[in-house]
Amino acid sequence: MPETANSKLPTIVLFDVDGTILTTGGAGRRAIIRAIEACGITPKIDFSFAGMTDRGIIRKVLDASGPAATETAIDRVLEPYLDLLRAEVDAVDDATYRVHKGIVAAIDAATNAPRVVCGLGTGNIEAGARIKLERVGLSERFSFGGFGCDAEDRAALLRAGAERGAARLETPLHYCRVVVIGDSPRDIKAAHAIEAECIAVSTGFIRSEELARHHPDHLVEDMAAAGAIEAMLGRS
Ligand SMILES: [Mg+2]
Repeated sequence: MPETANSKLPTIVLFDVDGTILTTGGAGRRAIIRAIEACGITPKIDFSFAGMTDRGIIRKVLDASGPAATETAIDRVLEPYLDLLRAEVDAVDDATYRVHKGIVAAIDAATNAPRVVCGLGTGNIEAGARIKLERVGLSERFSFGGFGCDAEDRAALLRAGAERGAARLETPLHYCRVVVIGDSPRDIKAAHAIEAECIAVSTGFIRSEELARHHPDHLVEDMAAAGAIEAMLGRS
């Protein structure tokens, strides 16, 4: 396959976690709900968490449920969250808690390619992302990322992850190619807000027809699809 100029650029790949790398079978959602309940609040939730940051989810639930969504109130919910997340993650059976097709091969390809670094770009706070990934042995595959504890805004956390990737490449970010892999329109929008490419995968809850409406640079069923890894490495 002929290589384009893109493939010669130092590349930072940022993987979303929920719906992209893996599915927790709802463990993350249940842990957030339990953490809110642990603060004495009855949560009103009528929305999908897909593509939202942890702080953004908690803010929206608090807004709908009564108490003022101050930074302190959000921090209070996050206090019991990690222990509850560990318990919820442990409770899911192996058939339900799974890594999506092609993800391990994509991580391997990104890790082994020259001048490519492989990180996370997730709305999870870092400790939460690592609890989810540890269960499937993937946490240590990501030495850096942009997380929900870096920023509530998804574009801002992706930029934080991209800056960390650029530091590892010892190259200014504006000389790097950034590729975001995600399963929601929010991943696509945030990637484009920082001028990154987005590979959208339909392994989460959002159908490919809906993802297509947000114009990802590449749209694949999963990372095992023909051309997906080449797209990630800039060889398509
Ligand atoms: Mg996701």
